[in-house]
Amino acid sequence: PQYILQVKDLKKHFPIKGGMISKTVGHVKAVDGVTFNLKRGTTMGLVGESGCGKTTTGRTILRLAGEKTGGQVLFNGKDVYALSDKEMRDMRTKMQIIFQDPFSSLQPRMPVGEIIGEAVREHGLVSKEEFDDYIDQVMDNCGLQPFHKDRYPHEFSGGQRQRICIARALALNPEFIVCDEPVSALDVSIQAQIINLLKNLQEKYNLTYLFISHDLSVVEYISDTVGVMYLGNLVEYGATEDIFRNPLHPYTKALFSAIPVPDPTVKMDRIVLEGSIPSPANPPAGCKFHTRCANCMEKCKTEVPQQREIEPGHYVVCHLYDEA
Ligand code: SF4
Repeated sequence: PQYILQVKDLKKHFPIKGGMISKTVGHVKAVDGVTFNLKRGTTMGLVGESGCGKTTTGRTILRLAGEKTGGQVLFNGKDVYALSDKEMRDMRTKMQIIFQDPFSSLQPRMPVGEIIGEAVREHGLVSKEEFDDYIDQVMDNCGLQPFHKDRYPHEFSGGQRQRICIARALALNPEFIVCDEPVSALDVSIQAQIINLLKNLQEKYNLTYLFISHDLSVVEYISDTVGVMYLGNLVEYGATEDIFRNPLHPYTKALFSAIPVPDPTVKMDRIVLEGSIPSPANPPAGCKFHTRCANCMEKCKTEVPQQREIEPGHYVVCHLYDEA
């Protein structure tokens, strides 16, 4: 297939329990209809305010959030939710995730060589004889010293711990990695090193990333395409240049107007959004952004806008772009 990943109208709703007998009284619509395609060897940035569903989208794609509520995820053309347990086990090595907090996701009492190699052994990816050399090689590729493999996670700095997490993912020879805020917990000086490591590994192994971040400048630097989420929906996505230079959706415009412009001769008016994000358990009807949108029209309050391709590869979900 042309795309390594195809996500079609993906939905993940979580039940809200209430009352004495704990019955379902509603649903949090964390992911509520997300559609995009991802080309092999590229990075898609996923941005939006916290609580908009970025992380749940990443986890639902990887089948880490239980059963999905609706839609489809195709990985190399295969329906991820239709795989048998055995097929899913193999797929797990191809699809990996890296988290924001590199410490809590590392076993404190395990030497790092073991942490990196545990799943390699489980999946029988290399022979016993090759194992040590293989782990050395992976550590080296991630900027870690192989002779440190008997040390424990607490003996490493935050940046090095994130390298350990990356090495653990890389050791399984993945094709696709969800990077969930991988540098947000790190010092700014360390962030660039980790981002550049991810970029180098991508080039070397033709990796594909879904890069979740609230940091727009990091996303602009690392991503080939960018998706913008609001209340469980992807409201706009396209090539990074198009999204940053020519944002179309009123929400994207507001989000991006908050980025400081380095060139003082360029004047960009900051758009301040009124009100707070509505609850994903009880989102507004029609366009979910209508309660905060300065361009809101009558039909926005009742009609759900459809995704439209405005220029090649640039999609937006907003009634402003309906055909006249
Ligand atoms: Fe604003 Fe209407 Fe577009 Fe929604 S559909 S973003 S309310 S103009």
